[in-house]
Amino acid sequence: MSDIRPYEFIEKYGLFLGISFVLFTYLGAEEFGYPLAFLQTALLLTWAWAGHVVCHIEGTPIYPINPHVQLHHKHTIEMPRWLNLGSELLVNFFGFTILILFQWLLGLHVLSNYIVLAAAFLYILIHIFDYSILPNKEHTAHHINENCNYGPHFMDVLFGTRCVPEDPYDDFNNKIPHVILSFAAAYYLRENPVTREWIDALLRHTVATDSKGGEIRADR
Ligand SMILES: [Zn+2]
Ligand SMILES: [Zn+2]
Repeated sequence: MSDIRPYEFIEKYGLFLGISFVLFTYLGAEEFGYPLAFLQTALLLTWAWAGHVVCHIEGTPIYPINPHVQLHHKHTIEMPRWLNLGSELLVNFFGFTILILFQWLLGLHVLSNYIVLAAAFLYILIHIFDYSILPNKEHTAHHINENCNYGPHFMDVLFGTRCVPEDPYDDFNNKIPHVILSFAAAYYLRENPVTREWIDALLRHTVATDSKGGEIRADR
């Protein structure tokens, strides 16, 4: 923590984080209120880093069968690049939507599905398009040494997991369009009656077990 360069941090990540927090919080505020939706946004941005860290812990039961490690990193099955990236895109999506699945299994509703989806879209846009299709020095370093530069890079700065801490921070100002696109996609899914009905059906189990016996969420 002491190694963080605050001025550079704000310059490289301030606007990106500000816009991400405003837009993602808005997605969940209707359901959870602004403070909780803000907290959920912080949690999901942290999960983007932490989930990836867990993927790379050797010795866990999932490590030998984790497609992120075995296919995306180690290429244990030869396949065309487009197929490898397509499978990694699905793995990234599942890495976030597994949280919705856990909620459903546990009968809990503590995270907005729409913040989870926006975070998944953002991760995919940055990892698949900016870091895999386009070259990125910081992410290439993660593919050389899988125990650093997990991304998002502001989390690597905060948690001290950068491969080369002295290097300038990776500029996230050019990733603001990714945030807006991710927000727009999740907002569309929330506002479209068909997709909303389908996504909210994932919560039926939770609603049915609500102790008050009533619908948790007000009709819109
Ligand atoms: Zn990668
Ligand atoms: Zn990785």
